[in-house]
Amino acid sequence: MTLQSHTVLTEVRSEDSVDPAVRLAAMVGSTVIHLPGDSGYDEARTLWNTAVDLRPAAVAEPTTAAEVSAVVTASSQLGYQVAPVSTGHNAGPLVQHDLASTVLVKLDAMNGIEINPLTAMARVQGGALWGDVTEAAGRHGLACLHGSSPDVGVGGYLLGGGIFLYARRLGMATSGLTAVEIVLADGELIRADHTQHQSLFWALRGGGGNFGIVTAFEFSLYPLETVHAGMMVWDIDDADRVLRAWAEWAPTAPHEITTSMRILNLPDAPGIPESVAGRPVVCMDGAVLADKKRARRVLAPLRELSPRTDTFAQVPPSSITRLHMDPEGPTPVTGDTALLGRLTDEAIDAFLSQVGAGTEHSLHSAELRQLGGALARKHPDGGALSRMDGSFLLFGAAIADTPENEARGKKDANDLVRAMSPWSTGRQYLNFAEEPVDVGDNYGAREWLTLTRVKSAYDPENVFAANHPVPPA
Ligand SMILES: Cc1cc2nc3c(=O)[nH]c(=O)nc-3n(C[C@H](O)[C@H](O)[C@H](O)COP(=O)(O)OP(=O)(O)OC[C@H]3O[C@@H](n4cnc5c(N)ncnc54)[C@H](O)[C@@H]3O)c2cc1C
Repeated sequence: MTLQSHTVLTEVRSEDSVDPAVRLAAMVGSTVIHLPGDSGYDEARTLWNTAVDLRPAAVAEPTTAAEVSAVVTASSQLGYQVAPVSTGHNAGPLVQHDLASTVLVKLDAMNGIEINPLTAMARVQGGALWGDVTEAAGRHGLACLHGSSPDVGVGGYLLGGGIFLYARRLGMATSGLTAVEIVLADGELIRADHTQHQSLFWALRGGGGNFGIVTAFEFSLYPLETVHAGMMVWDIDDADRVLRAWAEWAPTAPHEITTSMRILNLPDAPGIPESVAGRPVVCMDGAVLADKKRARRVLAPLRELSPRTDTFAQVPPSSITRLHMDPEGPTPVTGDTALLGRLTDEAIDAFLSQVGAGTEHSLHSAELRQLGGALARKHPDGGALSRMDGSFLLFGAAIADTPENEARGKKDANDLVRAMSPWSTGRQYLNFAEEPVDVGDNYGAREWLTLTRVKSAYDPENVFAANHPVPPA
């Protein structure tokens, strides 16, 4: 529906009789708004995780901070909630909101990136993607704390924590944030950093998209010309001995190394390396932030496990955004997750009873990410979430391309998490939680109370509908 047609509509009907969604479109100037029934609505409401069926009152696609502000102001005046998304990698939990009264604000057109090589800082818009940031930073010999897939958005990843290859050495990505520009519930665009709106800035670093729409993020980059990264692959029949050895090594490993251990079941399809395609395998990928000589020493205990494939080498940081082989582009996925403490022999037995050699399951990935190191302690400049509870992050994921596959994948992921529950810390890393969860259970009591107070101060009417909601105190 064009702005012109809205204007005509508002002229011929009294204001109250016009559908509020139509009034919204008329109130936001040139910002593109898709309403149910419009030809572009279905495409606009479809996010990265295509298994998630969201039917919001409207979808807004702002291209500037001023447009974001206009959308938030008009939406809240009309009594709508506002749900910001940059890609929809964690769209699943949004189903808990009353979407008939929610405007989905898609930020993917706001993807600008500026790198300052002199200060080693990035300034990116609220809908930027990690793959683009990594490439732009890499051109200046700088690295960023990106996620395991190039099309994960900076927005949700940074606001919810952000961990991957450098995490045990450099900590959670959100702790490297130095400032944000954010549109608040009344439409005002402000800057929050370590000196202004400090409590809001604290809450944004781990408290998710509950407090406003971030239109720009500023964060530190790291002068890394190369890293020692790659993957090792074993046959599924080696899972027992490899997982036991890795689980014993991981908690005491030097902090320069961060790894992820997976049972992978990937199809034999274009883009999937031959070493992992078409059959279940054990795959460990990771990075060592050290020179080649030191990296060899750090990797020695893993090489003693005689991998069939070993690709670890000194490479530019911008070349490893696809190392983890995550699916890119719109993908239907389901999954479940838990944070785990030390993994005993019984824990490995439980893991392998679900996904080891000879088991029948639908998970394309059953993952254990190595935590500890810098993730084990609170970051001195960190916010609401700056450490990870536990020694391992468990994540089971399945392709949910049909309702049957979704149901089976969900069950298998739930079963995996249930089997590992004796070793669970009782918390989840919310960025990996694909379904609505009890959000407060995943923060410390003091952090949760502060988050709810910041929500009361900045969004008392609960305008913002986040994937993992923090209610006003
Ligand atoms: C394939 C895949 C790989 C992943 N790899 C990693 C990984 O290596 N490490 C890791 O830590 N996590 C990883 N994740 C999890 C990821 O961090 C979350 O899915 C995260 O929410 C993605 O952010 P997004 O902006 O792309 O997603 P979205 O679904 O768009 O956003 C999630 C939520 O963040 C908020 N939000 C997003 N942008 C903004 C904004 N500009 N302003 C205000 N609120 C905003 C909203 O509340 C939104 O509901 C991965 C997920 C997938 C599916």
